[in-house]
Amino acid sequence: MSINIDNYNSIKNELAGKATLIAVSKTKPAEDIQALYDMGHRDFGENYVQELVDKYQQLPKDIRWHFIGHLQSNKVKYIAPFIHLIHVVDSLSLLREINRQAIKNSRVIDCLLQVHIAKEETKFGLDDDELNGMIDNTYDNQYPHTRICGLMGMASFSENEDLIRQEFRHLKNLFDQITSRRSGFANPCFLSMGMSGDYKIAMQEGSNMVRIGSLLFGERNKA
Ligand SMILES: *Cc1c(COP(=O)(O)O)cnc(C)c1O
Repeated sequence: MSINIDNYNSIKNELAGKATLIAVSKTKPAEDIQALYDMGHRDFGENYVQELVDKYQQLPKDIRWHFIGHLQSNKVKYIAPFIHLIHVVDSLSLLREINRQAIKNSRVIDCLLQVHIAKEETKFGLDDDELNGMIDNTYDNQYPHTRICGLMGMASFSENEDLIRQEFRHLKNLFDQITSRRSGFANPCFLSMGMSGDYKIAMQEGSNMVRIGSLLFGERNKA
């Protein structure tokens, strides 16, 4: 077993109930997830559809699975029966497909809109105008088997704390703007920001959901 229990306990303490901790278990074996589960943890994040489906089948059914990797529309059907929260909705066509698969499974699927806040080009997500377009387009509830519960973003991979802070602050502003509109987000609503390297800054900037992998499970092997 290679989970870091000291880090787990100290992160839980730091979050102090103000943010949900998603344990990001991508590339890590089911035994590591089970070990954290046995300590009472239930929220786990995965990035790859096939890997998630395999783990879902092997592990206890009351785990709340969060999808945080890039999601192609044609793969939604594999996770639709059980996914707890999809953090990475970045187009209306993806939302439409999630709605379609949710109907087939007689459920409502909770989603976050992924916003591109980093200076880096390589990241996915909506820009500010696209985000506002998505909010306008979903206001009349055309996709009633989905609920938009908030926003997710990833800051730049950088040593520059000011840059990271600025990016998170920008996302929090967008989140607050949308929250104050008539439509707002479904409740409870989530601002998913912060990873192993930057979750402390994210918490200071108003995150209520952090996604932490390597601090809990150790470094991943680079593909
Ligand atoms: C892998 C991943 C994480 C966790 O990253 P760590 O740096 O290991 O904490 C969080 N969010 C997303 C979207 C990821 O892909």
